[in-house]
Formats: sequence, structure tokens, C-alpha cells
Amino acid sequence: MIEIQALNKWYDQFHVLTDIDLTVAAGERIVICGPSGSGKSTLIRCINGLEKIQKGRIVVDGIDLTAKAGNIDAIRQEVGMVFQQFNLFPHMTVLQNCMLAPMRSRGISKVEAEALAVKYLERVRIGDQAHKYPSQLSGGQQQRVAIARALCMTPKVMLFDEPTSALDPEMVKEVLDTMISLADDGMTMLCVTHEMGFARSVADRVIFMADGTIIEQSPPEQFFSNPTHEKTRKFLGQIL
Ligand code: ATP
Ligand code: MG
Repeated sequence: MIEIQALNKWYDQFHVLTDIDLTVAAGERIVICGPSGSGKSTLIRCINGLEKIQKGRIVVDGIDLTAKAGNIDAIRQEVGMVFQQFNLFPHMTVLQNCMLAPMRSRGISKVEAEALAVKYLERVRIGDQAHKYPSQLSGGQQQRVAIARALCMTPKVMLFDEPTSALDPEMVKEVLDTMISLADDGMTMLCVTHEMGFARSVADRVIFMADGTIIEQSPPEQFFSNPTHEKTRKFLGQIL
């Protein structure tokens, strides 16, 4: 589903990602963790074309992001993204937030877009809030709207960048439960998160990044019980 080969990225002179190779199969659930500044956000932003890459290749569902400019739009339709800050449009209702992108970029009618929005808002168990504005919802509810909004594009892959780290502790679970339910449905997911309980129970593979490279990757049982790299051990020692 995702094929990344020899990806290198610079922010001006700063070499932020070095020789990243990563293959993600359809239906695979990947958790990415690592110290602050290690390039986790940059990597997943590259996958849906939010960041330019200078070297290497990214192919999502057969579409080569690096081949031609128009492919970025094609890939964005296949890849849903959920951020730490929910990034909902404050002047639109929950329902309108969910209807906008499908109408604009898939060209579907208002009636169809509304039906989709209702379906996915119910899917994240927030259908009853459809006519509220984002500011009238809790953080956990807003994040579930953000997930529903991404799902309305019927993406093949979902990328999450620390979706629970801006939430009050009591709201983390409702968002993780929504993500677990997506995983149970077979969604291909890449999640940057430090929720190690989620990684243990949901991930097929945990990837550890440091200094812009993938240092180590393994199934969670192995990753947590027997990390091979000193940097991984140090990191796990700090957060577990
Ligand atoms: P965190 O856990 O704090 O979210 P991260 O692993 O997601 O960290 P990135 O946000 O990908 O890290 O940043 C990686 C490095 O690139 C950092 O050193 C950061 O300062 C730098 N960086 C990020 N975005 C930019 C930018 N737009 N311009 C220049 N440097 C950037
Ligand atoms: Mg980040």
C-alpha cells in the first residue's frame, strides 16, 4: 500500500530525514515513536505530500508521489490525516466540516456528502453533535469529528500524528477506542503516538525513529521486551 525508498529530505541545510525505507502492506497497523525532533511528523507529512522531498521515492497504492505534480492531489484523496490540533474549520458546523472535502475534491452532490458525513459521524459515535460548532465540543469529540472528516474521503490509508497528545487525559480513551475500531475494520494505519498501550495492543509493527532515520522496527512483543538498539532502550526507559 505504501512504498518508501531511500527517502531524504532537507529543510534548507538541515538534513531532517536520511535514507528512509519503509513498506506498509494493506491492512497493516504501524506505530511510529521516537524522541522529539526525530522526524516523525515530517515523515508522515511527506506521505501525503504536505512536505516536499528532495531524494527518493514514495508510492501510495500504485501512485508515485514523486512522478508528477498532479499525483499529489490523487494521493491526498487516498490518504486521510489527523493532527494533534484538530484543525476543524471553526465557522462551520460539524456536519459542514465533514461535507466540504468530498464535495470539493470528489465532486459529489450535497445530498450524498451529507449522507456520508452522517454515516461517519455515527461511526465515531458523534452523530448527535452534527449541528454544533467545533467550539461547542470537547477536545475528544473534536478529534473524533476530525477522524470522521478524514473518513468521509473514504481513504485507503489513515495517518495520525499524535492525535491524543493535546487531549485532557479523560478524553484520550474515546479517541484511542475510535482508532482501535478503525484498526479492527482493517484500515491501513500509520500512527505517530507515544500511547504504548495502544502500540502493544493494535500495532503489527512498531517503528522507532531517531535523528531522521529508522533505528529499529519490530512487532510490539519484541519491541517492548527486547529492543536491540541502545537509543530505543533509553527512550522506552523514559516513557514507560
Ligand atoms: P515531535 O515529537 O516534537 O513532534 P517530530 O519527531 O515530529 O517531533 P519533526 O516535527 O518531524 O519531529 O521535526 C524534525 C526536525 O525538523 C526538528 O529538528 C524540527 O525542528 C525540524 N523542522 C520541522 N519542521 C521544520 C520546518 N518547517 N522548517 C525547518 N525545520 C523544521
Ligand atoms: Mg511531531
